Amino acid sequence: MDTAEQPSAACPVCESTDTRLARVRSAFWHNDRLVVIEDVPALVCNTCGEQFYDDAAVLLIDRMRASGFPPEDAVRELRVPVFALGNIGVTDVPPREASSVATVLASEVLIRS
Ligand SMILES: [Zn+2]
Repeated sequence: MDTAEQPSAACPVCESTDTRLARVRSAFWHNDRLVVIEDVPALVCNTCGEQFYDDAAVLLIDRMRASGFPPEDAVRELRVPVFALGNIGVTDVPPREASSVATVLASEVLIRS
């Protein structure tokens, strides 16, 4: 099927119809390992930036997760810088900012391409 001829789908989050089909990469924590999966077919919202995987992609990712992401199946490896917030506690941040911080950290788990 020619993906260019598919009608644009609405974003489930913001309902924008300004979406595109793209190949993206995402990062997942698997136990104590961070793994990256590239070339994932996804619907990407140009308005809010959310990415949505189709059922086939989710099934394949679930199979990879079930197999434990064996190192010999990796196509390459990345070096990833690790940062820490040190002694900054959540109580040092006003509640409104604290929730923003949590949102930013959660969204940074995804690596957008
Ligand atoms: Zn959206």
